[in-house]
This record gives sequence, C-alpha cells and structure tokens, in this order.
Amino acid sequence: MRGREYVIAVLPGDGIGPEVVVETLKALNAAAAADGLRLQFSEYPCGAGCYLKCGTPLPQKTLAACRQADAVLLGAMGLPDVRWPDGTEMRPQVDLRFELDLYAGVRPIYLFDARHTPLKGMERGSIDLVILRENVEGLFASMNAGIRLRDEVAVDSMVITRSGTERVVRYAFELALRRGRQPMKVTCVDKANIFKSMAFFRSIFDRIGAQYPQVEREYAYIDALALHMVRRPASFDVMVMENMYGDIISDLAAGLVGGMGMAPSGDIGDDAAVFQPSHGTAPDIVGQGTSNPVATILSGAMMLDWLGNRHQDPAACQAGQRIRAAVRTVLAVAGSGTPDLRGNMSTGQMGDAVAAAVRAAAGGHNDA
Ligand code: ATP
Repeated sequence: MRGREYVIAVLPGDGIGPEVVVETLKALNAAAAADGLRLQFSEYPCGAGCYLKCGTPLPQKTLAACRQADAVLLGAMGLPDVRWPDGTEMRPQVDLRFELDLYAGVRPIYLFDARHTPLKGMERGSIDLVILRENVEGLFASMNAGIRLRDEVAVDSMVITRSGTERVVRYAFELALRRGRQPMKVTCVDKANIFKSMAFFRSIFDRIGAQYPQVEREYAYIDALALHMVRRPASFDVMVMENMYGDIISDLAAGLVGGMGMAPSGDIGDDAAVFQPSHGTAPDIVGQGTSNPVATILSGAMMLDWLGNRHQDPAACQAGQRIRAAVRTVLAVAGSGTPDLRGNMSTGQMGDAVAAAVRAAAGGHNDA
C-alpha cells in the first residue's frame, strides 16, 4: 500500500547548496521507497544567483510555493560578492524565517565518530545536544532595518519580546521531554548579569520552566558557555538562547563534531518548517566535489521526523530514523567521509554510500 504523499519545495540555492541537496534527495528517495512514502520534490529559484538572474533573491513564486508545501528543503544561500548597496549579503534563508514565522531554530549536534572531534576521550554519542536558537527576534530583529546616522553612528537593537521568548522556551522544554535523556535538562544561555533584555529572557525562562518540574534547569552566561562547550560538551541536553548567540554557538558546536558539514538544522514554526544545513555556501570549496553532504542529509531526516510527528505518520518517522542509521553505518567505516572528516570520499560517493546503506538496511541490494 502506498503511504501519504508529501509535497517538498526544494531550494538548492548558491555555492555548495546544489551539491549537497542532490545527495540528500538520493537518501530521501531511498528511505521513501523503503517506507512506502511518496515525496514529491519541486525545485524553486532562490539566493544570490537568483538575484543576479531575476532581480530578487526570494521571488514571490518561490515564497508562495514554500507556503503551500508540506515542508521546505534548502541548500545554502548567499555569495560574498553579491551584496545589497549597504554592504550586507543577501540572506533569503533568513528572510524565509521571518516570512513563515519559523521561530524555533533546532540544531542537533551529535558526535558520530571519535575521529571527528578535536577533543580527547570522546566516544560516539558522547556529544549529543540540541541548540535551540530563537530565530525571528533578538539581535536579528533589526536585520535590514538598523539605523545608520550619517557616517558617525550605526545601531542594531536586541529585541526580546515576552511572547517570542515564551514560545521558544516552551519549545525547548517540550523538546527535552521528547528526547527523554536522563536527566532531562534545558540550559538558558544569556547575559542576564549585564543586559536588561537578557534578564527579561531569563525571567521568562524561569516562569515557563517551572511548569516542567521533571526537567532540570541550568543557566550559563554566553561567554562562559563557550568555555563549557569545549570542556564539558557531554553535560548538555537542550540549550535555548537568543538569535545571535545561537548563530555563534552553532558554529562552535559544529567544530566539536567534525565541522559545518556535520551540523543539520530545522527552522520550525507552528504551520511551516524549513530544513537546511547549519553551514553557508562555502565558496572556498565549491565545485571541487569535496563538500560534505551529511549536514543536509541529516536535515532531510529531521524533515521526515517533523512530517511524521505533525501528521501522525509512523512511516515518515521511520524513514527519518533509517537515514540517521545509514549515516552512522557509513561513518563507522575507517577512512569514510569527505576530506573535512579526513576521509577520502567525494560528495557524490558519500551521498551514494548513504543511499545504498538505506537500501541495504531495508533488505535491498547494497550497491555502494
Ligand atoms: P554563513 O555566514 O553563510 O553561515 P560562513 O561564512 O559561516 O557562512 P560557511 O559557508 O559555513 O561559512 O563555511 C565555513 C567553513 O566551513 C569554510 O571553510 C567551509 O569550506 C567549511 N564548510 C562549510 N560547509 C561545509 C561542508 N558541507 N563540507 C565541508 N566543509 C564545509
């Protein structure tokens, strides 16, 4: 029997975006076949290259397709040489967060193999945390709208609202419950000792957190957190923070598990979600066949989890698990992985290997 059909808007974007998206579609198609899902992919233009061709980085037609789709899969966007007159880069992936109100930036960080981390004495799975980045306010609230007064002063404001903080903090506690680690914990990351906005963030964290007595509460100032992440990453479960802090800590966390090519993400709202790697367009390696598609493949798995939970569809959840298991299987082999993992596989070989592992685990022929 054929399962439910999902319409997925695919936005490959710029730089290595299209390279990693192609490999992700292989894994998604293999998992869909194994679990009887129907995934209908439709590609849409978006990004800095799209701006050069059609005058806008986020065409109305693309935005409408994202609104109508069941979910969006995105590669990466922005090119260093393509900028607005004020000098900022085109960031349609950030614009999409605002347009679709994707307030929860969910960024799981998982160590797949001890060889991937610069830290000593860490085993597979010993780093297993989620950074929850508030996605539509904080220091990004004034994006494209900061003030520049003559050539003397420029101001971007930190905006923290009660409703915006309540919903992301609630998401953090619900996520800790879903993960079910022992002990379940949410860490509030802020700078409450200095900024009014951050003390406000913490007070809301406390009030919402009190409704979840089974989940431990922890606090860390953002500067101290940078230290804790390196010294005791295994102690964290879910961490919630404002937008810019989340942006920075995501890159640090990715560095603990193999780099940007290992860091997936989901930008999630109440009615829509966009899944994409945490990395950018990596202009330094584009076209070399060396980009690591794992972050995007894992983002595709998150997309299936989200669809499965949203539509009470166990087949979609199982397909997501299947992709993660396939990534684990492939990365467990010595020497596997792309050059960023000190492996010798190309982008295409990595994508093929994951898709083959999905098929093999489903009982098909392993043609890797
Ligand atoms: P953005 O500001 O758009 O997030 P960025 O300037 O932080 O982007 P990235 O494009 O994420 O930069 O690249 C940072 C570094 O990580 C670069 O050296 C890049 O080559 C590397 N990198 C990023 N993604 C990958 C990937 N998928 N595979 C291998 N290396 C990657």
